[in-house]
Amino acid sequence: MDLPRIVIDLKKIENNCRVVVESCNNRGINVTGITKSFCGETKIAEVLRKGGVTYLGDARLDNLKNLQSIDIPKILIRLPMKSTAEKVVELADISLNSELDTIRELNFHAKRKEKLHGIILMLELGDLREGILEENLENFVKEILPLKNIKIMGLGANFTCYGGVIPDSKNLSKLSETAQKLNEKFQMNLEIISGGNSSSYYMLQKEKFPEGINNLRIGEAILLGRETSYGERIQGTTDETFTLQAEIVEIKDKPSVPEGNIGLDAFGHKPEFVDRGMRKRAILAVGRQDVDPEGMIPKDDGIIILGASSDHLIIDVTDCETNYHVGELIEFKLTYSALLKLMTSKYIKKHYLD
Ligand SMILES: *Cc1c(COP(=O)(O)O)cnc(C)c1O
Repeated sequence: MDLPRIVIDLKKIENNCRVVVESCNNRGINVTGITKSFCGETKIAEVLRKGGVTYLGDARLDNLKNLQSIDIPKILIRLPMKSTAEKVVELADISLNSELDTIRELNFHAKRKEKLHGIILMLELGDLREGILEENLENFVKEILPLKNIKIMGLGANFTCYGGVIPDSKNLSKLSETAQKLNEKFQMNLEIISGGNSSSYYMLQKEKFPEGINNLRIGEAILLGRETSYGERIQGTTDETFTLQAEIVEIKDKPSVPEGNIGLDAFGHKPEFVDRGMRKRAILAVGRQDVDPEGMIPKDDGIIILGASSDHLIIDVTDCETNYHVGELIEFKLTYSALLKLMTSKYIKKHYLD
């Protein structure tokens, strides 16, 4: 067995996906399954397709390249770099956009390839990441309409990414009304009105969604079974989809406070310690180069994560019922930040359960 490894339970992911997609579909909303947190691995992406998503979306062209074998429309969900416009047109059917220069460049390459490239215009609704300000939107659209190889497919917005702004009936109604206005003013029919990511799922469950919103771009809610406005578990889903297994390389009783003058740790922080007396501590062969220790949830709830350096994770196992030994495995469930890093680390083996 190659360790450390991440065990990926494809059936559980597919089940989560079905639950999320069905509850969206019941409210007239289709789903873009977001694949960036698992680097566009085709096996997992294929499971999202089986689970009923309408589109696949990723932030990176390398990942979209992986997805080419899956027959489903693909969306680039990060604003395209102008310098990569040619690749964008080749690898994505649709991209999210907010800059005219880039859209002109996409048009240029789409024309050369005799393609029609779809775009979703991003509207700034308060989170202050990407998006066109509403007062500039109509002029923006006027500039795009003459570009023959670009089709404006929709309008979208992003929440809880930079500013932590939560999607609510006010900002989502704004999105839907703005789309309606564009449709009337320019005699168009915007097909995709995309009301955010996993953080919009909370509202979808609790309240009526504003009329007109017909798409969500969802990663975490499917992969880990959590909406992300308040971090609540989604009924019928599980977070036992991805499991990290790491091996114990040392286990000893040690004092809980270091001895000597305390300087900076390996990452330039001054560490602080709680004196719990002598404790049984284990070192696991996994570290910050692979994972975000703050995002790891030990399956054995007697375990306390004490800290990590580049290649070592230090845990306290004094309160565990199991008597652990060197060479044994410790298992963790993951939050989004840990999942993202583990899937990206080349040192972590990926093991699929189908
Ligand atoms: C990452 C991302 C998403 C998906 O976010 P989740 O919280 O995983 O659902 C959706 N839209 C955009 C633009 C993103 O960058």
